[in-house]
Amino acid sequence: METVGPEFSFHGLSVHFRGPNFKPGGLSEKDMMASFLFNREVSSLFPYLNAVAERAELHQTPRFIRFRHENRFCVFYPQAGLVTPVDDRAQARSFLDRLMAFLNDIYTRRHEITPNHRLHRRVSVLDILKLLPKTNCGQCGYNSCMAFAAALSLQESVPEGCPYMRSPLGEQAIYPVYDAKGNLVSTVAININTAKIGPLQNGPDASPHPDSEAPLEMDPEDVEAANMSLPTPLTPRELEVLCILAEGTSNNEISHMLNISPHTVKSHIIHIFNKLGVNDRTQAAVWAARHNLI
Ligand code: SF4
Repeated sequence: METVGPEFSFHGLSVHFRGPNFKPGGLSEKDMMASFLFNREVSSLFPYLNAVAERAELHQTPRFIRFRHENRFCVFYPQAGLVTPVDDRAQARSFLDRLMAFLNDIYTRRHEITPNHRLHRRVSVLDILKLLPKTNCGQCGYNSCMAFAAALSLQESVPEGCPYMRSPLGEQAIYPVYDAKGNLVSTVAININTAKIGPLQNGPDASPHPDSEAPLEMDPEDVEAANMSLPTPLTPRELEVLCILAEGTSNNEISHMLNISPHTVKSHIIHIFNKLGVNDRTQAAVWAARHNLI
């Protein structure tokens, strides 16, 4: 047990590469992250951290707070935390010692701090998609606006990648990232401002691409690779529903497009969520984009 401070301490420190898919803040994929466990539940301090920590963002579902400390991204869940970037274990330990001191100082001074319970506003990939003209022109290097929106949410691209996006980006949203077994492994953040949505810029073809309404064809190799990452593979019908819902399509629209009942659509979506280990359509869309299905 690595103990620092009288109240809060950490243990179970693990330092590992974030992997090629994790690039929060445009950092190098060589950057590493540290994960650890708290000695006790820390969520009672979230509102105080939200009040005093740099660029703090409090989230309700799942319950976590993200902030910056000494130029590193820190994410606290009730019983665990993540820090990135770190160079190695020794540096991570040293930083966590200081981070626990910071936390214990807040705990000690909590009666002097006005807690801030305001939740950070979450913006979905589909909200980003609303800022795009959906012409699927490909100038951003992605084969569809949806793929670009998902990549942007993962910070694998930048807003300037699309010359036709509607507004400058400002607010920050954050998304949890899960591995194939449903374990939380990282978070990604994106800056976006939906408050000043202006008219669409004139794209190369301002009318929707003729194929943009149809489900995109999937590369069999991508499908196989995606299914290999799952404990239980998606059926062809589930893959079809996944790719359509990732475009922001409602259950009723999917029902009409595939000529199946809304009840069947709902059943497919529940199976898809369970197999992917995700909780909502946005996470499912991100998963599909990360596996090149859309
Ligand atoms: S409109 Fe923008 S996001 Fe959509 S494909 Fe073209 S460049 Fe990419």
